Amino acid sequence: MTHDDHATIDLEALRAKYAQERARRLRPDGLRQYRGARGEFGYYAKDPYTEQRARPTQHDHVEVLVVGAGFGGLLLAARLRESGVESVRLIDEAGDVGGTWYWNRYPGIHCDIESYVYMPLLEELEVMPSKRYAPGEEIRQHAVRIAERYDLYRDALFHTRATSLDWDDDRWVVQTDRGDRFTAQHVAVSSGTLTQPKLPAIDGIADFRGHTFHTSRWDYAYTGGTADGGLVGLADKRVGVVGTGATGLQIIPHLARDAQHLTVFQRTPSTVDVRDNRDTDPEWFASLPPGWQRERMDNFLSVLAGEPVDRDLVDDSWTKTARLQRQIVSGAVDDSIDPAERELRDELADARVMERLRRRVQDVVPDPATAAALQPWYRYMCKRPGFSDEYLQAFARDDVRLVDTADTGGITGMTERGVLVGDREYEVDCLIFATGFEVGISGVMSGSLPVTGRSGATLLEHWARGPRTLHGFWSHGFPNLHHLAAMQNANSVNFVHVLQEQAEHIAEVIAHARRRGAVVEPTSEAEDAWGRTVRETAIDNRSFQRACTPGYYNGEGTREIAGITYSPGPVAFHRLLAEWRERQMDEVLVGGAIPSLSGAGR
Ligand code: NDP
Repeated sequence: MTHDDHATIDLEALRAKYAQERARRLRPDGLRQYRGARGEFGYYAKDPYTEQRARPTQHDHVEVLVVGAGFGGLLLAARLRESGVESVRLIDEAGDVGGTWYWNRYPGIHCDIESYVYMPLLEELEVMPSKRYAPGEEIRQHAVRIAERYDLYRDALFHTRATSLDWDDDRWVVQTDRGDRFTAQHVAVSSGTLTQPKLPAIDGIADFRGHTFHTSRWDYAYTGGTADGGLVGLADKRVGVVGTGATGLQIIPHLARDAQHLTVFQRTPSTVDVRDNRDTDPEWFASLPPGWQRERMDNFLSVLAGEPVDRDLVDDSWTKTARLQRQIVSGAVDDSIDPAERELRDELADARVMERLRRRVQDVVPDPATAAALQPWYRYMCKRPGFSDEYLQAFARDDVRLVDTADTGGITGMTERGVLVGDREYEVDCLIFATGFEVGISGVMSGSLPVTGRSGATLLEHWARGPRTLHGFWSHGFPNLHHLAAMQNANSVNFVHVLQEQAEHIAEVIAHARRRGAVVEPTSEAEDAWGRTVRETAIDNRSFQRACTPGYYNGEGTREIAGITYSPGPVAFHRLLAEWRERQMDEVLVGGAIPSLSGAGR
């Protein structure tokens, strides 16, 4: 740290300001302030894109069932097909493949990670993304392309939710909400974490007479236009939008342009860094050597994780703030620096970035009161970082109004005519909820997909005192059940990269088990050992989390995230997996041609 830093940054004052803003935002009801889009509010989760068709129920047998047809499920199914597994069935609640890119089609949707490292299999499928940060529809089409290329539609079941998995001697019995009952030798669950739309649990939503929907179920029949904009249906409408997270940042410029009038209900401002999107240069793209995508993906992951690299190939707002991201998404730690010294350095670096971002607001937004309300006062990684070159600019318009709801803990109610913030009513014709998603509500962790294993115990019973897995993939007593998720595994903002590694790893293990005629199941000793490793290597970021403004990263200020993923980071984890495949893969196989491992104790 330099003398200069101390002269210009008063950390004590900044900490006090952050604490004050946190207190203003903290709500005693924590996660209970939200409700899921279910039951009475189920219409907020209805699929507006594909009509549900009648189909015969399935009572057959498949070799591998993949729950979730987002990129994780698609990549696993693709790799399985490559390894010769013909019988693969994808199942998804959506009407097609794509996962989050199926559901999220709102105007302005783009991936905020560079497409050259985010969109998988670009080289294999010979695809050039149109832009550095690709539009959502292009990414969705890419998911469709993967499904077509690997013939994954053949056996897929859409608009179908798996409702139970029961191990029966040598196979899983699968039941669904469409009346199917079929069997599968292997089941892989890749059901995502941010899937179910959530709404504020306020009174009066059902009383509202205007039009309303959630951003992940965009109603183009009402707004007109496409994900590229042109929302002509809003030209004579007063529109309100609740929420200014990563989604709010992308839709608000379009709503500002196309609505007669826009009211933005903000609770906590996002950080809004430079986007700098641009068209892909075809000459540059054509000049990339074979293997370029894997190299670029690995490079991006390494820069973010703090692993040594010669060059930062992506060089964008993510890689420039990589060090700060390690406050929450784990990575390598330089042990030569004293932890207190490291924390101070990080805090100063954080303060400089946040100061730059607050200045950016002032430079772009002309009205001082609006600019002040748009300035974020918390440490950089307390919330998902945001990027846009259009969002702040929208608040320079006369027909856009910002309503700061921090003092009332957000919007407080709805009436027939509009939105309540405390005593004040704001009339709107259309209210759009950009209020995000319930965390981890789908799949096995939430209990919405009950799993009963070999001994009759459920997976959640097995995990009653915390997850128990080998590398996050498998649990003892649950043969041939594979998980694609961050839990006890790797995490990264480029989560599709993590999913690709997981898919390749699982596909290789399944192929190996097939060759041996074996079942995949770790010993409970292996599971315990991995649990210990995850705990012992966990970076304690609790004090960071505790000082953070509430949000879904810290359970609305009610809990800290520590020891959920493998703290030394994704690059170290992938190295560990490669070594494990080399030397220890047989240890997870039971039966078949490995009699020594099929005995007692398993
Ligand atoms: P978020 O959960 O990030 O944001 C929800 C917003 O709603 C917040 O601004 C929140 O305020 C606000 N809110 C909630 N309740 C109220 C209330 N009662 N009154 C007023 N405001 C309220 O959801 P998003 O859909 O924006 O993003 C979710 C995640 O999806 C992202 O973090 C990211 O992981 C992913 N995403 C990724 C994109 C990509 O390009 N890769 C693009 C878009 C999303 P507060 O902050 O105060 O809680």
